[in-house]
Amino acid sequence: MTRRYNFCAGPAALPTPVLERAREEMLDYQGRGLSVMEMSHRSPEFVAIAEAAEANLRTLLRIPDNYRVLFMQGGATMQFACVPLNLLGNGGTPNYLDTGIWSAKAIKEADHLAGSHLAATSRAGGYVDVPRGDEIALSADAAYLHYCHNETIGGLAFDYVPTLDGPGAAVPLVCDMSSSMLSAPLDVSRFGVIYAGAQKNIGPAGLTLAIVRDDLLERALPHTPSLLNWKVYADNASMINTPPTYAWYLAGLVFEWLKDDIGGLEAMAAINRRKAASLYDAIDASDFYSNPIAPANRSLMNVPFVLADEALNDSFLDEAEAAGLLNLKGHRSVGGMRASLYNAVSQQAVEALVTFMHDFEQRHG
Ligand SMILES: *Cc1c(COP(=O)(O)O)cnc(C)c1O
Repeated sequence: MTRRYNFCAGPAALPTPVLERAREEMLDYQGRGLSVMEMSHRSPEFVAIAEAAEANLRTLLRIPDNYRVLFMQGGATMQFACVPLNLLGNGGTPNYLDTGIWSAKAIKEADHLAGSHLAATSRAGGYVDVPRGDEIALSADAAYLHYCHNETIGGLAFDYVPTLDGPGAAVPLVCDMSSSMLSAPLDVSRFGVIYAGAQKNIGPAGLTLAIVRDDLLERALPHTPSLLNWKVYADNASMINTPPTYAWYLAGLVFEWLKDDIGGLEAMAAINRRKAASLYDAIDASDFYSNPIAPANRSLMNVPFVLADEALNDSFLDEAEAAGLLNLKGHRSVGGMRASLYNAVSQQAVEALVTFMHDFEQRHG
């Protein structure tokens, strides 16, 4: 068996030791004689798995006690609707920062449900950087400010947490961290709500995490369906109906791997910085490859790049695949290439990519 280097943007690579452990436990979970997939979500065995996963996540992110962790489904896309539904019960206008495709989708959903105010955008420059703090102009009645920490398609990341001053200081900050949660330490107390679909950096598809400050659980619009209502999840230990049990278990194994094998998020962040630097250095050192993003806002997780000669794109992808480097095709909306360097992608994988890029340039440049 050969596991190839997988640079997929999502569902993405998972740590091999996690998959090995899941394989060992697949048919007979810890001598219980059944698989986690076959357990009742109400059984003591599964409740223990669920609670351990939450406890480890809390330890990794140092989540303060006044925040609830919700294990949901529906992906980040469902949270695009949950955010206005759960935060507009006291009135006010949703405020958004626009930095690319994912933040635009969140804005579109808010517009559909309630309307929104665009507090800042980096569209004019082509989304190659993020708005500066002093460019953010909230509406007078802002109910929250939403932004996307890491634009997975554009390869653009915030290098600061927007801090709101004056009357804005009380406005909850809501963040889509689908492609960056757990890639580095995080000061959760700066945020009202953080959410992330699992399939980028947390676990398999099917699970979505929401971390919600508890005072914000009282603001849902009255018609919010129960399965979209954060408070209903908080009051029912995320088990209103059958949760995605196996994805929850696997995310729990990823949290253990981060804690025990990697040594926590500081250690993970150092590995991620080194991986990204290897690839960006290779891109910057050549005229054959390029990345348009302002250096301060370059994503450490998703690295888009284009070839100077677009006619070579197909050969690049074919030869990369033959060399064991999978899923380097850029998003269909932007073309070019994209290498996603999530936690489970090793330095060795990045070095193999850099070596391949260099060889490809020698042969075709
Ligand atoms: C992938 C992604 C989404 C959409 O996630 P789904 O789970 O497919 O709904 C939203 N935001 C960001 C930043 C993403 O990377």
